[in-house]
Amino acid sequence: MTFIETRGNDGQHPQEVTFSQAILSPIASFGGLYVPKALPDLGEAFLTKHLGSHYKELAFDLLTTLGIDIDEAVINEALALYDHFDDPSNPVPVVKVRDDLYVSELYHGPTRAFKDMALQPFGIVLSSIAQKREENYLILAATSGDTGPAALETFKNRANVRVACLYPDGGTSDVQRLQMVTEDAPNLKVIGIKGDFDDAQSALKRLLGSDTFKAKLKEKSISLSAANSVNFGRIIFQIIYHIHSYLELVRQNVISMGEKVYLDVPSGNFGNALGGYYAMKMGLPVAKILIASNENNVLTRLINEGRYDLRGQHVIPTTSPAMDILISSNVERVLYDLFGTERTKELMAELDRDRVYALTADEHAALQAHFAADYCDGVQGKAYIKEAFAGGYLMDPHTATCFKAYESRATGDYKTIAYSTAEWTKFSPTIANALTGEKDAHDIEALESIAKAAKIEIPAMIKGLFGKAIAQQTVIEKEVIEEEILKFL
Ligand SMILES: *Cc1c(COP(=O)(O)O)cnc(C)c1O
Repeated sequence: MTFIETRGNDGQHPQEVTFSQAILSPIASFGGLYVPKALPDLGEAFLTKHLGSHYKELAFDLLTTLGIDIDEAVINEALALYDHFDDPSNPVPVVKVRDDLYVSELYHGPTRAFKDMALQPFGIVLSSIAQKREENYLILAATSGDTGPAALETFKNRANVRVACLYPDGGTSDVQRLQMVTEDAPNLKVIGIKGDFDDAQSALKRLLGSDTFKAKLKEKSISLSAANSVNFGRIIFQIIYHIHSYLELVRQNVISMGEKVYLDVPSGNFGNALGGYYAMKMGLPVAKILIASNENNVLTRLINEGRYDLRGQHVIPTTSPAMDILISSNVERVLYDLFGTERTKELMAELDRDRVYALTADEHAALQAHFAADYCDGVQGKAYIKEAFAGGYLMDPHTATCFKAYESRATGDYKTIAYSTAEWTKFSPTIANALTGEKDAHDIEALESIAKAAKIEIPAMIKGLFGKAIAQQTVIEKEVIEEEILKFL
């Protein structure tokens, strides 16, 4: 598998790169992204072959069929991390919630959010490439809450990799902050910023683009990389679970092989949905991908109106913060796939210049042939949480956004697979508020009241966080981030 660039080649970057190269330097010519030059057609034979397969067998076959330049032993080592999920025999359970609505639970990994699905194996893959090249990498991460814990967990004590993780102090939930600041390993540095997520994110972008910072790293023989969600090393692991979830429905006799389904995805940066799109392109029987958003509904408007419009838009803080995004980076890969290089470059330049681009009627129709969308506000989301709970299903506010898209966009023709991207433990104050009406609870109080209402235990790994020693004390002004990182190195 080789990769080409969404905005074409500038003569400075190589014309085509391998999977490892796309991972190590994810930004392509003109600020574009790397995309597979071609995707294989898997056909129904591939699906039938894996009807009885374990998640890891399916994953291994898919990754080797795609032909990535990673040793098979490393792929196996990476996939073995799914053995640490709650149920090693099935890391991604698919659960019936309504007659034609099934929830695929992507949060059974070590940090209780779907970021583990990709970041767990990605950590092994990246560290092994670094070792093979005898290079050392600094991975920068900026997080609003879920990427940080998952990145720290996966790179902890890995050879040839160090991580500096920036989070907005006071801008994450208690559980998310504790997951980061209790991580204790010599190759990890967690830095709280006095500011919001945008401050953390712009600091990261500035460092990634800074030649002086890179020169200082070079003196220490360290190269710079990022573990953000445009990295294809993460996307590739997000194709697998869409195929797995489909096969689960066949195994549960909910659908027959070949029958189409809706995939219903709570979306922010569009990595999860993109994985579904690639699975569909490779032959997974998908009628449409439903894109669920919160009040930051730029994707809903793109798909329903054909216009990506950021004019006058500001990020609205919501009860599903992992989806509080206006610049949804992976959409560019779909634009490329549907409209080609020239048009993608043009549209992205328009967005940069005018903060808006408009598709032609034909382009809009092509987009709608694959996607439908709706958004769910916080009040509606809480109502879905309450209703699902009454029916015996406990879910988080991100998952709840899918229920609205399902109700308004799924027709009765197909079953829907909705994706659950976080465990209830990560967003407990919102859920407690939805279930019992209690307001402004701290995480620990909310966790206890939900556990009581649901007659379940708080998972030990979450409860344990509240008694763990704080290993990462640094909270600083955003002006001194670079200095702090260099001190750590
Ligand atoms: C990251 C995240 C999302 C958004 O996923 P994208 O791939 O960025 O669209 C949704 N829900 C949760 C809980 C997340 O952590």
